[in-house]
Amino acid sequence: MAAGKRDYYEVLGVSRDADAQEIKKTYRKLALKYHPDHNDGPEAEEKFKELSEAYGILSDPEKRSRYDRGGFSGIDGMSAEDIFGNINFGDIFGGGGGGSGFRGGSIFDEIFGFGRGGGRGRRAEQGSSVEVEITVPLKRILTGGEETVVYKHFEACLSCEGSRAKAGTEPRKCEECEGAGQKVYTTRQQGMTFQQVGICPECQGQGIFIDELCPDCEGRGSAEKETKMEINIPPGIEEGVALRVPGQGNMSPDPGAPPGDLIVVINTEKDPRFRRKGENLYRDIKLQIPDVVFGTKVDVPTLVGELEVKIPAGTQPGTTMRIPNEGLPGFRSGRRGDIYLNIQVEIPKKPSKEEKKIFKELQELNEKKN
Ligand SMILES: [Zn+2]
Ligand SMILES: [Zn+2]
Repeated sequence: MAAGKRDYYEVLGVSRDADAQEIKKTYRKLALKYHPDHNDGPEAEEKFKELSEAYGILSDPEKRSRYDRGGFSGIDGMSAEDIFGNINFGDIFGGGGGGSGFRGGSIFDEIFGFGRGGGRGRRAEQGSSVEVEITVPLKRILTGGEETVVYKHFEACLSCEGSRAKAGTEPRKCEECEGAGQKVYTTRQQGMTFQQVGICPECQGQGIFIDELCPDCEGRGSAEKETKMEINIPPGIEEGVALRVPGQGNMSPDPGAPPGDLIVVINTEKDPRFRRKGENLYRDIKLQIPDVVFGTKVDVPTLVGELEVKIPAGTQPGTTMRIPNEGLPGFRSGRRGDIYLNIQVEIPKKPSKEEKKIFKELQELNEKKN
């Protein structure tokens, strides 16, 4: 690690008198570029480590002054955790709420191999999420209530309870690393001591040995299972909204880590009566020419029954009529939307002999008017 190591200021490309803010800004920019989540180039991980090590030292006033005075020998004997432990990844990448989508702490643990099996700072990774779509009928969106979701996810294998070892047997702890999966190597070069954390060669970082794999899951520890679940639909839920059900996703490969979430995406079931736009419902009404000339009454379906609607005499094609408060409840406001009727007038395509006679008279009448 020591040989050919580049100066930390050079690694970040900042001057020796750069202030804390400049160092942070520069590191953030470069780390985003080389973060293994975004860059799978062969050198990205090494580069990311180099940058993080430089930042780990230069962002800490005490370590930085030791480095400034004594160079690499000034920080002689610091462990990886000493160097990297103070970097707040949530702060750098704006994680926490998951806004940037970076696996801040966990990727860090992965790369630097922190504390597997008890070391501080180790955050076991949550299982992955499972996304499923359901189609909800309008009447359920009106009232809210339970709908059944059927989905597949990975759960701990029932036979081995996730241990991956054949039922009745136990995984054996690796004696070389005492189950930690990693070892600390101390090397001395040119009078300096370096500590490096590496994967245990005995167990390849697993920390355990399994003599007989569970035959039911072939040693995976997990099994795919179909699950039926009732989920509560809030009234007025909008098209495309995703409901999150914590802990119902896939199990984590890390023992003891929480499972992922179930994400339920809501679709509105097609309804022959209405088209949905938010809380409003739309329906076309086809009327005959005399109906719009003289006016009429039509029965219009609502979400819960039927309503008689008066069509005034002289209503024009393309007119929109509103039936207030018969739509869906607003998701946020809770206020009911409206039903909109789009008036269409049916023109006879194949008029009968008698109809033709009447239309002819109408035509002659119009010609006389002009
Ligand atoms: Zn099993
Ligand atoms: Zn081991």
